[in-house]
Amino acid sequence: MFRRSIYKSSAQMQAMIEPGLITAAALDSVRPLIRPGVTTLELDTEANRTIRGRGAESNFQLVRGYSHTICVSVNEEVVHGIPSERVLQAGDIVSVDCGAQFQGWNGDSAITVVVADPSRAEVVERREELSRVTEGSMWAGIAAMASARHLGDIGAAIQGHIEDNPPLAEPVEASASRSEWGILREYVGHGIGRKMHEAPSVFNYRTPDPGAEVKPGLVLAIEPMVTAGSEETYVEDDDWTVSTVDGSDGSHWEHSVARHADGIWVLTAPDGGAAGLAPFGIEPVPLA
Ligand code: MG
Ligand code: MG
Repeated sequence: MFRRSIYKSSAQMQAMIEPGLITAAALDSVRPLIRPGVTTLELDTEANRTIRGRGAESNFQLVRGYSHTICVSVNEEVVHGIPSERVLQAGDIVSVDCGAQFQGWNGDSAITVVVADPSRAEVVERREELSRVTEGSMWAGIAAMASARHLGDIGAAIQGHIEDNPPLAEPVEASASRSEWGILREYVGHGIGRKMHEAPSVFNYRTPDPGAEVKPGLVLAIEPMVTAGSEETYVEDDDWTVSTVDGSDGSHWEHSVARHADGIWVLTAPDGGAAGLAPFGIEPVPLA
């Protein structure tokens, strides 16, 4: 059977710059709307408007059976939540996942935002901590991609960061009763290019198999999904939404990243990932 190489040419990676930036713009347009009283469908509408306005299309809408531009997952939902008339509340932890396709190439990125709630400072702090550690683990994985020899090095870096940053605060809700974070096992990162989801899978944890070689031409969506409790999840009756079995909170962060001859470049960050990578001593290098 013919299998397309997982490694891309420089020209192909260049073609992924614009869809990456459009994906970033879509999330930037949604971020300020994440506040009490806004419906998750309104977030979806805004993301779609941004993507269309840049002459691109939503690649989520190209997924069979899915008609929205974003996935939006609130509180115990971790990923794949469907936009709806649900109204966001103060204190909610909200993950938004989005992607754009432009001239046949794809971007894919996700953020988590905690809605302010002065009356529940401890809950907000706990949720912000979850989001911060999840985001940090994503950057640790991206940083590892700069020097990784195999995919397994990336998963090990993600898990290592999560283990090195255990929950600081005492649980304030019965649902968050563990002393460590949970890393989803059934959902993983992936290659990205002509299709949003391509080989190889990118595990967010250590694996016995070192996995494919990391070398110039590899473009990955690195996307840790982390919970404040058990990593056990189930799919809700809508056949999409992935929620935690124990009701603990979830967070999801994602970027699309290219490894090229001179270094790495985060395609879905306007600064190429400079700010996120700085703590790891890595400077992203633009695709030449
Ligand atoms: Mg995504
Ligand atoms: Mg993805």
